[in-house]
Amino acid sequence: MNPSRRLLLKHLAFRAAEISPLDGLISSPADGERFVTWPEVADRSKRLATALSAWGVQPGDRVATLAFNDHRHIDAYFAVPCLGATLHPINVRWNLEEMASVLEHTRDRIVFVDPSLMDRAMALADRCPWIEHLVRMGPLETGVGPTAARAGVTITDHDELLQSSPPIADWPDLEEHDVMAMCSTSGTTGIPKTVAYSHRTTCLHTMAIGLTDCMRLSGRDTLLAIVPMFHALGWCFPYACGMLGSRLVLPHRDLRPERILDLLVAHEVTASVAVPTVWNAVLAALSASPGRWDLGHLERIVSGGAAPTASMIKTFRDEHGVEVIHSWGMTEINPVGTMSPAATTREEAALNPDQRLRHQQVAGRPLPGLKLEIQDEDGRRLPHDGETTGRLVVSGWWVAESYAFGHPDEECFGPDGRLDTGDIASIDDHGRMAIRDRGKDMIKSGGEWISSLALERAIGDFSEVAACAVVARPDDRWGERPIAVISLAPASSLDLATLLERLAGDFERWQCPDDLVLVDSIPLTSTGKIDKKALRARFPS
Ligand code: ADP
Repeated sequence: MNPSRRLLLKHLAFRAAEISPLDGLISSPADGERFVTWPEVADRSKRLATALSAWGVQPGDRVATLAFNDHRHIDAYFAVPCLGATLHPINVRWNLEEMASVLEHTRDRIVFVDPSLMDRAMALADRCPWIEHLVRMGPLETGVGPTAARAGVTITDHDELLQSSPPIADWPDLEEHDVMAMCSTSGTTGIPKTVAYSHRTTCLHTMAIGLTDCMRLSGRDTLLAIVPMFHALGWCFPYACGMLGSRLVLPHRDLRPERILDLLVAHEVTASVAVPTVWNAVLAALSASPGRWDLGHLERIVSGGAAPTASMIKTFRDEHGVEVIHSWGMTEINPVGTMSPAATTREEAALNPDQRLRHQQVAGRPLPGLKLEIQDEDGRRLPHDGETTGRLVVSGWWVAESYAFGHPDEECFGPDGRLDTGDIASIDDHGRMAIRDRGKDMIKSGGEWISSLALERAIGDFSEVAACAVVARPDDRWGERPIAVISLAPASSLDLATLLERLAGDFERWQCPDDLVLVDSIPLTSTGKIDKKALRARFPS
């Protein structure tokens, strides 16, 4: 195949430099906010490619990043894959042990490091003798003195590296199936698993998230990308903006809700993406300071990675005029699988707002190129009637075929290209998928299954509740029983009797929690999801 016909990132990610040369990124690392145009992004990437080649980076080599969302991270995001190497973003919230265990496989010689994480990177270099170069992505912060890395490791300033390297003339012609990135799951249910993305899967996935019926992203949008670039390739939004010419706002590491709101207002952001815990915190900040932020420019937000509550979707709509687009995905699928805007078909457009709200609460339809099915435990296909629940199985253009370095959970990849997601779902007769629970989070009581997610959604809608997680507690008689772990909204109280009374309409008594445990805050994983592993360990019996 002629290289110009191949699905290569270089053909897609730099399009903005040609169609929207005056637009670009707004980045706010610790050394100050700046605007970088798309042609500057292209030039910086080509300079970085020269520097990487001078360090002997070859096709197939892995280049790691330990960084937040900013313009220097974008340099690596574009340069490394287009040069033929593999971009390897490391989750900055992992402990050293987790990082080293992944690098044991990936063997990255070069690590791009946010200045605030240099100590961590140097400790990592001590553990990983194959690391040769640390690239410090910005000046050291005030009060932090320079430190020396172990012998054999150079520390180079990112900006100086770009200044001293001329841009490469042309990007190489690669193969579609070449690996362009490696990402690991956030480890919500166990140890992280690493997945390889190819140029082909990433191009197809990026095209799909840029479709109108996903989130109506266009070159007229300003997108605040809150989902971290160190997880699941930032859901490919950096590439989608590079493809469409949308302005991209990169918030770096300060993700307090007040900061997010300041950025949304200051940059007249029209669209944004984050996990539900972030959006709930944003709503809490809005209601604590009425009138402080005017979200007049914000049209839609994507909430994905975990289930949003109905009240979150409704409050954004009714009080701020913002559409919540619910999304489901996983690292193993590049990572977006569904998006659920309020209305995509003629039939949905004719519905009233409250009927549409019901559709926004479910994860929605698969992106073109993906197929969703539900199965019973024996692998038999179950009906798509909106009621029957089963194991969610996905197949299609950007579904991984295996973990990059093997894993005990490998049997989730079927020989026919189908991936058992581990999620429990239903699918209706219009192709809309609803996540009912994660397989491992379902609670088995007296032989019957209880959905922790259904309880969490119902309890999360109580005005007294800031956050809620329902986990199984071992029980001699029933096997397992649900308990609700709740952090309360300011100046609120809630007891078990009230909780049971409120749930009575929607749940049978045996489905309701046996206990209510109040906590100051619910533990979150490195990507902002509820950390059920930590909760189960905290309430073992
Ligand atoms: P981890 O499995 O470590 O959390 P991922 O970040 O890849 O790593 O998470 C994928 C999982 O997150 C999905 O399999 C699903 O259980 C959960 N998830 C993602 N989106 C949603 C959603 N919209 N609703 C409920 N669960 C979701």
